[in-house]
Amino acid sequence: IIQVQQLVKYHGKQRILDGISVTFTKGEVAGIVGPSGSGKSTLLRCINGLEVFQEGEVCVQSTWKLCGGVPASRETLLQLRRAVGMVFQQFHLFPHMNALENVMAGPVHVLGHKRDQAEAVACCWLERVGLKDKLRAYPAQLSGGQQQRVAIARALAVQPQALLFDEPTSALDPRMAAEVMQVIDDLADDPDLQVAMVIVSHDVAALRRIADRIHVLDKGRIIYSGPTAEALDPHGPAASFLGITTT
Ligand code: ATP
Ligand code: MG
Repeated sequence: IIQVQQLVKYHGKQRILDGISVTFTKGEVAGIVGPSGSGKSTLLRCINGLEVFQEGEVCVQSTWKLCGGVPASRETLLQLRRAVGMVFQQFHLFPHMNALENVMAGPVHVLGHKRDQAEAVACCWLERVGLKDKLRAYPAQLSGGQQQRVAIARALAVQPQALLFDEPTSALDPRMAAEVMQVIDDLADDPDLQVAMVIVSHDVAALRRIADRIHVLDKGRIIYSGPTAEALDPHGPAASFLGITTT
């Protein structure tokens, strides 16, 4: 569903992404790991059209295409961002809206649904992430883990084809992080939810549980792609910077 081909991205003279080719498919959970500064966030941002890149292309659903060096039209960006949702480390909820309003905003403004219909859909998603009793709570009244679960519900409410997570739990304490990863795990296990998930994370234990495949990024290149068990093996390609010891 998402095909990235030979993507090259510069910041000034620095080559941040150095020819990335990778495919993410529906129903699959991909993990991306790599040392700090290896380009993980930049890659997600390029896929979502939040950053321009100089060479290569990103193609979503064989329909929406971003090409290196060519500015995308507003229409393409809108369609692409609707198809590819993003969940950030710092939740980025609308602070003046309660949980329900945050999740409804997409269905109302992006999908053009009526408010009562959007509200029903939003309730469903909030229930799925375990926040049925927090519909009217404002972000400031929610814990970090709860805010992140609202962010996940909000991303899903516009029926994306893919969901990109950039370190969704690194701003949370371990207990809340586990809560959020459990929600992602449950969603990933749902055969009716045909969404491609891409998770950038340093949480090796969670990735072991959730991810089907791992891509290891180093200095802007994918140095390894393969099944999770192999990639996260204590002697595997990610061991040196993930601090994996024996398991
Ligand atoms: P982390 O694990 O710390 O989040 P990352 O793998 O997500 O790291 P990126 O944030 O993608 O790494 O950054 C990749 C490289 O791009 C880094 O060397 C960073 O310094 C550089 N970079 C990122 N944004 C900019 C910018 N706006 N201007 C210049 N350089 C940038
Ligand atoms: Mg990052």
